[in-house]
Amino acid sequence: MPAVLRATWATRPYGAVIAREPFGNLERVADGIWALISTPLTGDRTTLSNGGIIVGKDAVLAIEGFNDPKGAQWLANKAHELTGRWPTHVVLTHYHSDHANGIAGYLTDGRHPELRSTARTRDLVVERNKPADDARSSAMAGVTLLSPTEPTTMDLGGRSVRIIPRIGHTESDVSIELDDPSIVFCGDLFWNAMFPNFVDAIPTKLATSVRALRRTRDTIYIPGHGAIGTPAEYDRYVAMLDDVEQAARRAHAAGTSAADAGAQFTLPASLGDWTMFSKQFYQRAFEAWYRELSS
Ligand SMILES: [Zn+2]
Repeated sequence: MPAVLRATWATRPYGAVIAREPFGNLERVADGIWALISTPLTGDRTTLSNGGIIVGKDAVLAIEGFNDPKGAQWLANKAHELTGRWPTHVVLTHYHSDHANGIAGYLTDGRHPELRSTARTRDLVVERNKPADDARSSAMAGVTLLSPTEPTTMDLGGRSVRIIPRIGHTESDVSIELDDPSIVFCGDLFWNAMFPNFVDAIPTKLATSVRALRRTRDTIYIPGHGAIGTPAEYDRYVAMLDDVEQAARRAHAAGTSAADAGAQFTLPASLGDWTMFSKQFYQRAFEAWYRELSS
């Protein structure tokens, strides 16, 4: 990635940056709500994914386990500095290692926040994420399960948060949503100005979920990767996914291989700049579409 773009991403915060680290910036989103916007293109992968902190009178909710326990521990320490309390609850949006592998960092001798995920996410963290890790596995064994079909409402004390089961980035995703102010922690259902990883995607379901997350009123969208998103940025992302879908359907109908279609693909300039985490990501997107179109 060109240094100029890297710098733009790292220094274009939505809210006041209250902590700046090589791996990311903690931004104040609203009263009692912070987002950690990771900046892994610096090469520091302590956190890798975005996450956040939501505070009520009675509870402190942390979002995501991050790539390394040091990342989760850092966020927990920030929650303690900002609120006087260690997180009381942690939610994982999905199983991917950059969101889940550091989960044990929230647990200390005296502090055991309640960890929450769907059963599928819990199982996939243990089965698929490498390298395997005893601390992570035992943390996941103690997870409180979220319904895979019904929203879970958490009352943090004067602040209600809904954890809503979704699908499409993986087979089990959740979004974490607030109504006042209107804020959606999207997990990896939204990547802002970064081309998403389709490795486990179910693209038709992803398309449905991203539309379901979009609100008609002004809303702050916290992506799984990239800067905090405005409604316009969210819409640009949806348009980008639609462009990929059309290209994949055309290539599949023409009998082009996913590898060739991915190698030939470019996004139209009208959709703006998209950072590629990996050169393989276009091909992975076509492969995900082909899985669905061929079955
Ligand atoms: Zn992911």
